[in-house]
Amino acid sequence: MEEKNVAVILAGGKGTRMNSQIPKQYLEVNGKPLICHTMDVFERSFIDEMVVVVGTGEMDYFQKNILGKHAYNKVSKVVEGGKERYHSVLNGLRAINNADFVYIHDGARACLREELLERGKEAVRKYGAVVAAVPVKDTIKIVEQGKIVSTPPRNVLWQIQTPQVFSYDKIKSAYEKMMTLSQENITDDAMVMERFGDVPVYIYEGEYTNIKITTPDDLDMAKNILKNI
Ligand code: C5P
Repeated sequence: MEEKNVAVILAGGKGTRMNSQIPKQYLEVNGKPLICHTMDVFERSFIDEMVVVVGTGEMDYFQKNILGKHAYNKVSKVVEGGKERYHSVLNGLRAINNADFVYIHDGARACLREELLERGKEAVRKYGAVVAAVPVKDTIKIVEQGKIVSTPPRNVLWQIQTPQVFSYDKIKSAYEKMMTLSQENITDDAMVMERFGDVPVYIYEGEYTNIKITTPDDLDMAKNILKNI
């Protein structure tokens, strides 16, 4: 049987750090809305379906301005997100009918390249739970009330990105379990698997250019990266 790969693309954040009237995912960047840069990569790739998670009350806007103006064949569902990122992911996972692997991706990481998806595919087939990561370049400190309390050794530190890719059944049941137990400090999907899943999570090679566009500075950087890829 053919392997089915489904992407959950998250565009349900408020983007308050962007200081913009319209949510950042809809800002026009190099000729098209930011979210389209992200979706175009998935549309061109081996991914079979995309489930897009939009902000509360943004369904009509998304249908009209994104799906109505740009041609996508792979968008199977659009669902509304929730208060925290993990609520949005859960809504996306619940909207999937069946899948072998699910690629959970921050819509705000619009500078990903298809090669990253390919590396994720190879890794998830081997391990069942994998996340994109790059080695930390700076020294990282644990700081409390302005005072450094410790310095973890840099050679074991990795910056975690998306796509975070999992066997669909495994991440879905880990998420459902989390919702009945505790959601404390959950900031990514790997954490859900680490705490509530039954397989270890591995990393695969990410890209330093796969930035999460959060502030106006990031937007300027993204414009340059997108010009070059
Ligand atoms: O807030 P954060 O920077 O972690 O957001 C990462 C991604 O998750 C963004 O693409 C954002 O749109 C999405 N998100 C979401 N629903 C939320 C919060 C964030 O879909 N409630």
